[in-house]
Amino acid sequence: MTTYDCIVVGGGPAGATAATELARAGRSVLLLDRGGRIKPCGGAIPPRLIRDFAIPDHLIVGRAVVARMIAPSGRTIDMAVDPSGAGGHVGMVDRETFDAWLRARAAGAGADLRVGTVDGIERDAEGSLQVCYTDGGGAERRVRARSVIGADGARSRIARIALPRHRPGPCVFAYHEVIRTPAIDDAAFDRGRCDVFYQAAVSPDFYAWIFPHGDTASIGVGSAQKGFGLRAATGQLRARVGLEQCETLRREGAPIPLRPLRRWDNGRDILLAGDAAGVVAPASGEGIYYAMVSARHAAVAVAEFLATGNAKALASARKRFMREHGLVFQVLGIMQYFWYRNDRRRERFVAMCADRDVQQLVWQAYREKQLSYARPLAYTRIFFKDLRHLLQTAN
Ligand SMILES: Cc1cc2nc3c(=O)[nH]c(=O)nc-3n(C[C@H](O)[C@H](O)[C@H](O)COP(=O)(O)OP(=O)(O)OC[C@H]3O[C@@H](n4cnc5c(N)ncnc54)[C@H](O)[C@@H]3O)c2cc1C
Repeated sequence: MTTYDCIVVGGGPAGATAATELARAGRSVLLLDRGGRIKPCGGAIPPRLIRDFAIPDHLIVGRAVVARMIAPSGRTIDMAVDPSGAGGHVGMVDRETFDAWLRARAAGAGADLRVGTVDGIERDAEGSLQVCYTDGGGAERRVRARSVIGADGARSRIARIALPRHRPGPCVFAYHEVIRTPAIDDAAFDRGRCDVFYQAAVSPDFYAWIFPHGDTASIGVGSAQKGFGLRAATGQLRARVGLEQCETLRREGAPIPLRPLRRWDNGRDILLAGDAAGVVAPASGEGIYYAMVSARHAAVAVAEFLATGNAKALASARKRFMREHGLVFQVLGIMQYFWYRNDRRRERFVAMCADRDVQQLVWQAYREKQLSYARPLAYTRIFFKDLRHLLQTAN
């Protein structure tokens, strides 16, 4: 039996990225993905991802230059993605082609790519890892590895194996319908605009969206509330905005984890990345960028572990990630907790988005994935305006 330096379980953005990075570092890698399913996803990605992960233009099927925030009252605020007018946009990808391309890139870098559903991990007499999986033809197989990266998504089997005592954190369940784009743009739909609905009727604790993807569009709803009818809410939204007659191509949903796990590794030879590690931004549900960044850190940590044999190196992936993004996750978590509570607060939240300073801060943080400290006066102004909104909400 071949022994791989690393087996990466899951060929989504996290797994494909980890496999690419390790293969480029000269390691023998097997990328295992169960295949046969398109990941349900709005597909919105920031410019920083396109740049840092060298995503080619042909994978960007839509470009949104404006986000329309819709309050419970129906009030709308249009936020230009790049208020400076320099032409920034949110890129839209179709996960069917995007994920397949990322996996092909991993194979091009030297990773072995196989279709297989991982059923478990066992250890031989020497304690070495054996990954057990069922291949595309239904045959049970096993393969040896010095390390495993679990990038198998929100309901990660590898997380349960590596961290048996871990409890999954809070999740939003997201459901969307992929529809054929209407032939003509009108008030209800624009190929260059993302619509985000902050209304209890369509989402009592998160938001609903319409994202343009060129010839198709994603229209969906997220909520953590058990029993909330996501499908009915999506139908209601489609009817309200006049998109109910558009052809429906797919209906699908999946959970979105909203809190990074406290540990990503088993202290021995298994490390998690992406949704499996819980790295989706609260409030926005943005997970593709964070999946890829966490995977890059995971690949560096595993490479160090392989080179030194020191299992402590595995913990560096989480440390590096949290150093870079922990603060933003905290801020977004507080935002979601406070502003998504009821329609009164949502109304104020959308009203705040009309503010130019707020728009610049939000988009700068989204586009570049870092908080800029270059405009302290603007942030002081935002702080006091935010405080005023909070006080008015409390009244
Ligand atoms: C409806 C919805 C809309 C979203 N919209 C956006 C958005 O617009 N922008 C954004 O940034 N994020 C969005 N997200 C979040 C984003 O989709 C995820 O955060 C992202 O896909 C995480 O990537 P990943 O590689 O960690 O996991 P995944 O993309 O879930 O990939 C996991 C992979 O593992 C494979 N797998 C699972 N189990 C096994 C197994 N046992 N054996 C082998 N393979 C296995 C799966 O087939 C899959 O390919 C959305 C999520 C949902 C549900």
